[in-house]
Order: sequence, then structure tokens, then C-alpha cells
Amino acid sequence: MHEEIVKNCVVTLEYTVTDPDGVVVDDGRHPLVYLHGGYDGIFPKLEEALHGRKVGESIRLKLQPEEAFGDYDEDLIAVENAEMFPEDAEIGMVFERVSDAGEVLYRVTEIADGKVVVDGNHPLAGMALIFNMTVTGVRAATEEELAHGHVHGNDGDDDDDDPHHGPGKHLVH
Ligand SMILES: [Zn+2]
Repeated sequence: MHEEIVKNCVVTLEYTVTDPDGVVVDDGRHPLVYLHGGYDGIFPKLEEALHGRKVGESIRLKLQPEEAFGDYDEDLIAVENAEMFPEDAEIGMVFERVSDAGEVLYRVTEIADGKVVVDGNHPLAGMALIFNMTVTGVRAATEEELAHGHVHGNDGDDDDDDPHHGPGKHLVH
């Protein structure tokens, strides 16, 4: 049984995320569970800081935008004709688009005069974020988890269509 965080163990974290003013942007309602050791399950800077930590230890870490959800990119804002959207489209709705960069989620940020403004930036793009994390569990990963490169839940779901990763990079949708 693992006591400290080493490569190829599954880590459970309780966490909250705030902006630099202390405003909570993610209350960590669901603990974050990820496979440790370079599997891209969590931001690299967090993973680095967690390495070697033990259950019960807490860390607080500030990430710059480029270390978290990226800088804000004005080019990801687009103005479209409202006809392209469902009639019941409203602010806050998210649409998926496939582009050269892969699938990008666009949020509707404005609807006016037959136009819809969509923003493909992550809602937390451009923000420095402070992560407060407590290690609440460490266990060895299963062979299957290592082969897949991610954690499997307790629900027996092991198909790869759904990466079923914890929040990690996808903290806020
Ligand atoms: Zn899997």
C-alpha cells in the first residue's frame, strides 16, 4: 500500500480553487481523482507539487493562466447569425465545434439583433488560480488503469470512449 504520492498511483484530492482575490471558482464538490506520473490527468505544476506528499498533507499553490487554462484569446470570440442556433439558445449555453485545433466548446455570451456572440475560451482562461488541495487518498493503480493512462471509477465503467477522468484540467465546464 502506498503512503506517499509516487509514479503510477491513484491520488484523491479534496480541493478548492479561488481567484487571486479569494473568490471561489470551483468549490471542489467532487473530489479530484487522478493517475499520478505524467499521464496528463492534472496540471503539470500541481502534479509536480504533489509528488512525494502523503495522505493528510495540504498544499496551496498559485498557477499563472498559462499554467492553468491558458491565456485569454480574443480570436476565439465569434459573432454568428442567430439562425445557426436553436431558437431557444440562451446566454451560457455551450456548443461544440470541430476545428483544426480539435473540438472546441463555445459558450454563448451575448444574443442581440439576430446575432449570437460565442466565446471559445475556457471560462477560467486568463485567470491566475489558487489551488488549495488536501491529499485524502493514495493507492496503487491497477494494470488496466496504467494501460489506459487514467483512473477507472468504482462504477465499473472502463470503456475508452469516455475518458472518465476527474476534474483535473476540466475543472469547470
Ligand atoms: Zn479506461
